[in-house]
Amino acid sequence: MARLEVDILTLFPRMCAGYLGESILGKAQEAGLLAATITDIRDHATGKHRVCDDAPYGGGAGMVMKPEPLVEAIEAARARLPGAWVVLTSPRGARLDQALARRFAEHGRLILACGRYEGVDERVMTAVDMQVSIGDFVLTGGELAALCVVDAAARLVPGVLGNAASADAESFAGAEGLLEYPQYTRPPEFRGMRVPEVLLSGDHRRIERWRRREALRATRERRPDLFTRVSLPESDLRLIDAGDDEL
Ligand code: SAM
Repeated sequence: MARLEVDILTLFPRMCAGYLGESILGKAQEAGLLAATITDIRDHATGKHRVCDDAPYGGGAGMVMKPEPLVEAIEAARARLPGAWVVLTSPRGARLDQALARRFAEHGRLILACGRYEGVDERVMTAVDMQVSIGDFVLTGGELAALCVVDAAARLVPGVLGNAASADAESFAGAEGLLEYPQYTRPPEFRGMRVPEVLLSGDHRRIERWRRREALRATRERRPDLFTRVSLPESDLRLIDAGDDEL
C-alpha cells in the first residue's frame, strides 16, 4: 500500500500538530496512508538555553538559525526515515507546483525543515536535498509551507481522497524580483566550511556588493525566468561576474 511518511522539523511543533490532525490528513493518518512525525529542532540544541539562533555575520536586521541544531535534527530524521528527501522551506527555493507535489507523493518519504527569523545559516544547505518555496512572498516561518507540501502530496496518495478523480485536472502560476543572498551566523567554521571572508571584514560597502552579487547569481542560476524579466543596470551586469577581489 502506498503511503506518505513525513517528519516536520520545526521550532514550533504545536503549529503543525493541529492542522495534521484534522480533516482529510487526520483521516489519512488513522488509515495509515500518512505517517506524520513532528520534531522540535530545539531538542537538538545544546546549552542551558538551547539557543537556535544568532545574529547575522555582516550585520543586518533579525536573527539567523544556527546550523548545528538544524543539521543534527536533519541527521536524526534521516536515520529514522532512510532514503527520505530533505526539503528546506525557503522563499529562495524552487516553486512548489502540482508536478513537484506528485514527485513527493511518489517518493513517499520527506523530511521538511522549517526556517524562522531571517532564515537559516547557508551551511545547512549541505544537509538538504532541495529548497522549496510556496510562492514569491515571505512568511514568518516555514511551518505553513511544510504543511502545504504535506497537504499537496498526501492528497495524491491513492486512497487519501474519498473521490480519487478529484485529484485530477487541477491548476497553478508565475512571479518576479531577485532572490536573497546566502546567510551565515556563528560559528565562523562549521564542518570545514568557512564563512566567506568578506562578511567578517566589517567593510559594509564590500558586504553590500557581495550580497548584491550573490543575489544576482542565485537568481540567474535558480530562477532564470525571473532574471530575464528584471531590468538590471550596467553596474549589476559587471558585478555578477566580478571576483571577490573586485568587490
Ligand atoms: N530572509 C528570508 C528571505 O528574504 O529569503 C526570509 C526568511 S522568513 C522571514 C523565515 C522562514 O520562513 C524561512 O527561512 C522559510 O523557512 C519560511 N518561509 C518564508 N516564506 C516562505 C515561502 N514563500 N515559502 C517557503 N518558506 C517560506
